[in-house]
Amino acid sequence: MERVAAALAEARALGLEVRAEADRLIVRGPRLYEPVAHRLLADKPAVLCLLHAEETEVVWRAAAMRPQCPRSGPIPLLQARPITAVDGACLSCGIPIETTRVPRCRFCVQAAQLVLREIRESIRGP
Ligand SMILES: [Zn+2]
Repeated sequence: MERVAAALAEARALGLEVRAEADRLIVRGPRLYEPVAHRLLADKPAVLCLLHAEETEVVWRAAAMRPQCPRSGPIPLLQARPITAVDGACLSCGIPIETTRVPRCRFCVQAAQLVLREIRESIRGP
């Protein structure tokens, strides 16, 4: 699993889009990185397992963030849980972050994007 996680991280760092659609594994990106894509596809069950685990991480965060969006007016910084900001930790959920470029972990970034997209596309109920 460690090896698969490393391969997935490598693919993403190269800018490849890797996602699951039901039981299909979708890898998109420049043809140049085809060998990287093939490595992931060769480990399809493990990669899908990893993607589903990530999905779970995003889902609970998005569920915590949705009620923080007011019906009107500015949207505050969405937080996955109440935590005290600490250097090197996600300021939304508190887990260690991989990069200091963004002060949130990628799960929180994805969850916030998901919630904001829902608002933009008005798919929330009344
Ligand atoms: Zn986080």
